[in-house]
Amino acid sequence: MPRDADRNPAAPGLLALVAAASLSSQRDAAPLFDCQSCGACCSYSAEWPRFSTEDDAQLDRIPEKYVALDLSGMRCEGVRCSALTGEVGKSTACGIYETRPDVCRACMPGDEECLMARAAHGLAVG
Ligand code: SF4
Ligand code: SF4
Repeated sequence: MPRDADRNPAAPGLLALVAAASLSSQRDAAPLFDCQSCGACCSYSAEWPRFSTEDDAQLDRIPEKYVALDLSGMRCEGVRCSALTGEVGKSTACGIYETRPDVCRACMPGDEECLMARAAHGLAVG
């Protein structure tokens, strides 16, 4: 989930209404992406919501039912993270927003991964 979402405690997961990062001209030109009506990056690849830099205390706060059997990351159903609720492209939320993995926090609306995931779901990318 994007760090920008952290500025809005009510925003789950990829869920704040935020401007695309101004790291490139492409992003400058990007519209606002409302993560709460998207969720594409949470339903793109089972390889994405992997655990990486979390410490044990962080990981312990993630409910076991959402964790992959091999403990490598979030449990996914196909390409969709099991913690994602709602319908991609319409209304979504992260069920563990406050304790989501670091990779989810690093994903930013408008960044390369965001645009890739949105495109795969047929959502606007610019
Ligand atoms: S794909 Fe982009 S807009 Fe959609 S939820 Fe993820 S970060 Fe937000
Ligand atoms: S834990 Fe799952 S639903 Fe939550 S932000 Fe990460 S990928 Fe999305």
